[in-house]
Parts: sequence; C-alpha cells; structure tokens
Amino acid sequence: MTYKLLKRMFSSSTNKKSRQVCIVGAGPAGFYAAMHLTKKLESVNIDIIEKLPVPFGLIRYGVAPDHPEVKNVINQFTKVAKQANVNFYGNITLGRDIHLHQLRQHYDAVLLTYGAEEDKTLGIENEDAKNIVAARNFVGWYNGLPSDRDLKIDLSHRTAAILGQGNVALDVARILLTPIDELKKTDITEHALSAIAESKVKELYLVGRRGPLQVAFTIKELREQLKLKNCKTIWRENDFQNVESVVPNLARPRKRLTELMLKSFNERETSDDNPNSNYFKPIFFRSPNKFLVNQDRQVTGVELTCNKLVGDKLEDQKCVPTDETELLHCNLVFRSIGYKSIKADNDLVFSNGLVKNNKGVVEDSSGNLSKLYVAGWLGTGPVGVILHTMGNAFQVAKVMCDDLANVDTKTKGGFEEINKIINSNNIIDWTGWERIDKYEVDQGKLRGKPREKVCSVEKMIEVAKV
Ligand code: FAD
Ligand code: NAP
Repeated sequence: MTYKLLKRMFSSSTNKKSRQVCIVGAGPAGFYAAMHLTKKLESVNIDIIEKLPVPFGLIRYGVAPDHPEVKNVINQFTKVAKQANVNFYGNITLGRDIHLHQLRQHYDAVLLTYGAEEDKTLGIENEDAKNIVAARNFVGWYNGLPSDRDLKIDLSHRTAAILGQGNVALDVARILLTPIDELKKTDITEHALSAIAESKVKELYLVGRRGPLQVAFTIKELREQLKLKNCKTIWRENDFQNVESVVPNLARPRKRLTELMLKSFNERETSDDNPNSNYFKPIFFRSPNKFLVNQDRQVTGVELTCNKLVGDKLEDQKCVPTDETELLHCNLVFRSIGYKSIKADNDLVFSNGLVKNNKGVVEDSSGNLSKLYVAGWLGTGPVGVILHTMGNAFQVAKVMCDDLANVDTKTKGGFEEINKIINSNNIIDWTGWERIDKYEVDQGKLRGKPREKVCSVEKMIEVAKV
C-alpha cells in the first residue's frame, strides 16, 4: 500500500474526530507552528495551504545558494509534513483561490503565516528608472522564484550600488562578487549563473544612512564578505572617526562586529592596484535623495544626502539630513531596505505594515467565525532570522493549543469543504512536491549541482502530476 494511500486513510479516520486547523503559508513559521501543534495537541488535523506548488518559503527562495547548511531545517519540516495528521496543499493562494471567511467557516482555527512578499520603496525621484532593482527580486531571480524568472537586469557596467546595509544587502553583494567557480557548485539557478558569469561589475558600493555602529548586517555575513577571493574592501576614512573609542562600551555582538570592521579598516592597503580585483566599498551617513537618469531612463547615479546622527544610545541613534549632498555615479542600483507584507485578503486589518495582532491573536468581532492567529514575518514584521521566526511560531502555537483545548465541537469540514470551493485539478500535495524535489535533484546532478530548480509554476505542476 502506498504512503499516500496510507496517509489518506489515516487522516480521514482521524479527521472526523479532530480539531481542524488551517495554516496559510508553508514557510518556517507555518512549519514550526505545525510542529508545536502536533506535539502538544492530541487530536488535531493540520492543513497547510501554500501559494506556490512547492513548500519552504524563504528557505527555498531567500536563503543564499552558498548557505546550504541553513537549508537543513527543511529536513525537520519534511518530518512534520509526513505526519499522518498534516497535509500540504500547494498552489492555493489566499485572497485569490480562497477567502479568509471561508477558511474561518470550515476550520476550528486559522493561522496566517504568509510572510512578507513585497519590498519597501524609497519614494524618491526616478525610482522606476531602468536598472534600479529590488534586492528582493534579485534574490528571487538567483533562487528560482517563478515570478522573478524574467528579471530585467543589466550587469554590463563596472559600478553598482546597494542601498541599505542589512544581511540581504550582504547576500546580494556576495553573490555578485563570489568567483563563478564557487557559485557553480551551489543550487543557484542556471539563468543567474550564466548572467553573473558575464557580469562586468567590479566596484560595488554598500550605502548606509547611519554609521558603522548601526549597521544591520551581522558578523558572520560580514566575515564571509571580507574573505571573498579577489575582492578588496575599501572603507572611508572619515566614517570611522571616534568609533574605536566607544567599542569598550558596546554590547557583545555589536562589539565583535565593530571590532571586525575596525580590523579590516586598519588593514587597508594603499598600493593594491590589481586591475582584476573586485572592490567592495561600504559608505556611511548617506541617504538616497534622488536617482539620476539618462535620456533612456537608465540610472546613471544616486544623489546622496549627507547625514549626521542624533540621540544618546548609540545603536538607536537616528540620522538627520544636513544641507550637504554627494553624487555617486553608478549604472546599477539595488534597493535593499527591507521587505513588506501585503494585505492578501480584504477582511484583514493592517497596522504599521502588519496584520494587527496581540501576541499572535487577531482580535476581531467576526460573529461565529473561528479564531484567527498570525505568526512569522506577517505578524512580527520582516526582521529576524529563522531562529526568531521559530520562537515566535512556537509562542503563537502555544496560545492556539490553549484555545483549542476548549474547542470541542469537532464539526468543521476542513479541506473537504475548501476543496469543493476551489474545485481545481492543480492542487499539489506532498507527493507532488516530492516528485518536483526528485526531478530538481536529478537535473542538478547533470550539472554537478545539488539541484536545478524548476522556475515555472506550469512546469512544477507538470512534474508533480506525472
Ligand atoms: P516566509 O518564509 O516568507 O514564508 C511565507 C510563505 O507563505 C511562503 O511560502 C509564501 O509563498 C506563502 N504565501 C505568501 N502569500 C500567500 C498567500 N496569499 N496564500 C498562501 N500562501 C502564501 N534567516 C536565517 O536564519 N539564515 C539565513 O541565511 C537567512 N537568509 C535570508 C535571506 C533572505 C533574502 C531573506 C529575505 C531572509 C533570510 N532569512 C534568513 C530570514 C528567514 O528567511 C525568515 O526569518 C523566515 O523565512 C520567515 O518565515 P515566514 O514563515 O514568516 O515567511
Ligand atoms: P534589515 O536587516 O532591516 O536591513 C535594512 C537596511 O535598510 C538597514 O540598513 C536600514 O537602515 C536600511 N533602510 C531602511 N529604510 C531605509 C531608507 N528609507 N533609506 C535608507 N536605508 C534604509 O532588512 P533585510 O536586510 O531585508 O533583512 C531582513 C531580515 O532577514 C533581517 O533580520 C536579516 O538579519 C535576515 N536575514 C538574515 C540573513 C542571514 O542570516 N544570513 C540573510 C538575509 C536576511 P537603518 O538601520 O538605518 O534603518
């Protein structure tokens, strides 16, 4: 008897007695919440609904290809998905194929974990010019996100700038400046690999609006960047004034990070001109003011406002603009100032860019609809590593467990009802994902890579349904 059949038999026999929980979004928050719920609740059936035919959210489509160890959490998530009372239903989008009130009608609880899938914008002049690329789209492009497959990016220029100094910005910098022979061994998509192999970018600025003491990137990521072969890091002398003197007062992670920057700054060479070197050039205290463009609306530079910092507590200091500006000439710009959640369903109430919630509980007066919860980036905001997302998902799942302990109706129809509403032949279950997974690994082997991702939804469906 096949695994699929066994699972279906088991889950339909338990379903009728179980509390029905729907999780929307198969990223880390969704899987960690499912893990907690299945551990702590005796009779629960969990359906994970996902927009894409494939699971894992930003683990698959965000984490950099040269960080395979980070992706090992997929093994834990796979164990969760293979439990008899957990079901994955891919290729279903909340707000398009199904609506929140329908889920709340047919489940005892609904948990939203659909993340943050847009990016923040600067709102400055000429932001729509050619070759200004959202880091989020660039990341999606090199990681095989179907919607970013055809990203328009011109890598034929020498100088580029990344606006923002978080870990996403460092991922972008590292992928652009890593020797191609190293990238070849990763699961980076073939289309990105061939474009980066031809890249002429040699000088990459990393622009921060605050100072070295306020950078958002972390030490491991900076260390990787500083160790890149054939890449010199050039800091600006003025940016490090007085930094050394405050180091002893800093909290430990910030202290170690600042010491690493200072070490690199103090090691700067003067006679280093190897014509083949790449240059990584962090600059601080500069905010983008407007983009310069040529007659074809191609970006040619960024006007930067020079800032000064105000406030007592170093890490929380705010930047305020001065009257001075500076021009940075470049023909490619990445905007890397953070992600943003969207209101996927009209019934959701947003506040400060997040689903309005109180420790994961969405408080509303929706009559007899079931309770609604939110976890992960959709509930906390688009910051924090997987570990933070895990902590938050566990916390919210704990609240759900307490609430569900008092639910004894056990009358909800769950996915049987949802399936009738959606009425589609293209829903992808876990077996379908396993077929896609195998196909990708096989395609990767042909190219000496861990996997070659399928980059179109149509092809995913075709492979899943064989
Ligand atoms: P997501 O991972 O975004 O998952 C949300 C899921 O919901 C997705 O599968 C999405 O397709 C789905 N979805 C979206 N809309 C809908 C809808 N309408 N209906 C149904 N489903 C929907 N952390 C680390 O610890 N290490 C790293 O190396 C690391 N690298 C990162 C690199 C990048 C570029 C980014 C952006 C983040 C990185 N992080 C890393 C952080 C980590 O990815 C997040 O903490 C984590 O993914 C957040 O999980 P989530 O479940 O809230 O959201
Ligand atoms: P982030 O860490 O919040 O960094 C955003 C950067 O953009 C900051 O430097 C911020 O400066 C700047 N910024 C924001 N608004 C701006 C504006 N209007 N003008 C100029 N600069 C602006 O966001 P992220 O890089 O997108 O990362 C998101 C989360 O994912 C983070 O928690 C990150 O650690 C995590 N992540 C982890 C890894 C990893 O572990 N390897 C990799 C990628 C991402 P201010 O500080 O001044 O606001």
